[in-house]
Amino acid sequence: MADWKTLLAPHPRVRLLVQGAPVADGSCVLYWMQRAQRAKANPALNLAIALGNSLKLPVWAVFGLTPSYPEAQRRHYRFLIEGLVDTQADAAQLGVPLVVRLGDPPAVVLKAVEESRPAVVVGDENPVRIGQCWRAKVAESLSQRARPIPFPVVDADVVVPSSLFPKEEYAARTIRPKIHRMLHEWLKPLPVIKAKTPWPTDESGQGGPPQGEPITVEHLMGQIRVGGVGEVPNYPGGTREAERRLQRFVAQRLARYGKDRNEPIPYMTSELSAHLHFGHISPLTIALAVQKEAEEAGVAAETKASVESYLEEMIVRRELAINFVARNPKYDSLAGCPDWARATLAKHANDPRPKLYTATQLERAETHDPLWNAAQKEMTLTGRMHNYLRMYWAKKILEWSPDPETAFAVALDLNDRYEMDGRDPNGYTGVAWAIGGKHDRPWGERPIFGTVRYMSYDSTRRKFDSERYIAYVRGLERGGSLPLGD
Ligand SMILES: Cc1cc2nc3c(=O)[nH]c(=O)nc-3n(C[C@H](O)[C@H](O)[C@H](O)COP(=O)(O)OP(=O)(O)OC[C@H]3O[C@@H](n4cnc5c(N)ncnc54)[C@H](O)[C@@H]3O)c2cc1C
Repeated sequence: MADWKTLLAPHPRVRLLVQGAPVADGSCVLYWMQRAQRAKANPALNLAIALGNSLKLPVWAVFGLTPSYPEAQRRHYRFLIEGLVDTQADAAQLGVPLVVRLGDPPAVVLKAVEESRPAVVVGDENPVRIGQCWRAKVAESLSQRARPIPFPVVDADVVVPSSLFPKEEYAARTIRPKIHRMLHEWLKPLPVIKAKTPWPTDESGQGGPPQGEPITVEHLMGQIRVGGVGEVPNYPGGTREAERRLQRFVAQRLARYGKDRNEPIPYMTSELSAHLHFGHISPLTIALAVQKEAEEAGVAAETKASVESYLEEMIVRRELAINFVARNPKYDSLAGCPDWARATLAKHANDPRPKLYTATQLERAETHDPLWNAAQKEMTLTGRMHNYLRMYWAKKILEWSPDPETAFAVALDLNDRYEMDGRDPNGYTGVAWAIGGKHDRPWGERPIFGTVRYMSYDSTRRKFDSERYIAYVRGLERGGSLPLGD
């Protein structure tokens, strides 16, 4: 069993926000679960358990459920809470109680610290602004105590640790070779570690682990009372559903992914982005399952190509997006986009806009374009939109808005409120790519877009059976079934 010095030694996956030795008379190890909302293949939870075992202390995990997470809607809360139900059960299997409390997460964590006097607090990384801000608050408080509490934060939701890319990467072509060079070191299964020290109870059975809210969907949805965009059918959150989707993808879709990933009906993609966003499944678990298929004896060349293409999206593109958000503080506005793109958009700022729509018209899908309207409606009704249509959708918002800054804000707002996987580094990057040329290159010059890549209605329509897609969404509006391809 590793000692705490080894466990807290410098490591690319761990940032020590508060350094030092575990508090000598600490009574437990506390894991503040924030982004990595799972107990399986969670290196942050693993670190907490390993520290607990080495210090002979019990371990608990706390999750602070706030009703005021920026842009989060009822559909997101239900998904998140469904995940907590699975995570509580999985964490119990490892001997770790998961406790959910209502309130501002840093306040919940600091109260848990007062209550349980941990020797160490372990956290997990989240590159978005609010995650950084919450962690900074907790770190400041833990460091200013008479006896500072060490606070390692684990980069649990990437395959290759983000710390290995300390600068903002320019494009996929700059990060790809670095990732490929290091991948073999990181693409390895994590051990399953169980907590060995039980929570102490007295003779009458009093004591035991700290308590929190009952973790049921009905109870927690009743407690948070958030309004906003409504829930969607047939889109459950949680580790079980993520595992089901992974199995379905590998068994039924992977072989065709390389060829048909741009088809919106039926989807040939994994549909795991929301589960990845909430940390219900580890990208490592997905990558290992997919890679295993490429290693099977006699595997078809088409499957091999599909595996490569999938890992490009799920590791290279996803971790490029995380790098952008972690390294560029302006990630959620046009200001975070490259100079060439901002200059060309500014040059074309006064170009006449043949069509102009307000944010409300766009939200209600009241444009002249049946394909765009169908994509917008698919998103509002189901919480999803296919990647190929997302590119088209965002580019048309640029074409139909008075200026690129407004287009950026409208696209991000709609994406974040309606997409189940919204508010994610992939979303900030996707909008920045479509509207602000992020990670792209200049193309031929044309009105409004300048040299930012353009997508036309006619070419997009011909890429797949768009009439069938539009009819499918019409069916959804009439209460048709979902999702296609299941
Ligand atoms: C304008 C726009 C907005 C977007 N908004 C979001 C968003 O809010 N949240 C989100 O997760 N993705 C977003 N994307 C990226 C992409 O569309 C989705 O990740 C993908 O459609 C999710 O479906 P899937 O899980 O079936 O993907 P698959 O094709 O099965 O890919 C597997 C995983 O790889 C990652 N991935 C796939 N495509 C990309 C990509 N282009 N960039 C980065 N990572 C990728 C995702 O995590 C995805 O789950 C956006 C793209 C654009 C162009």
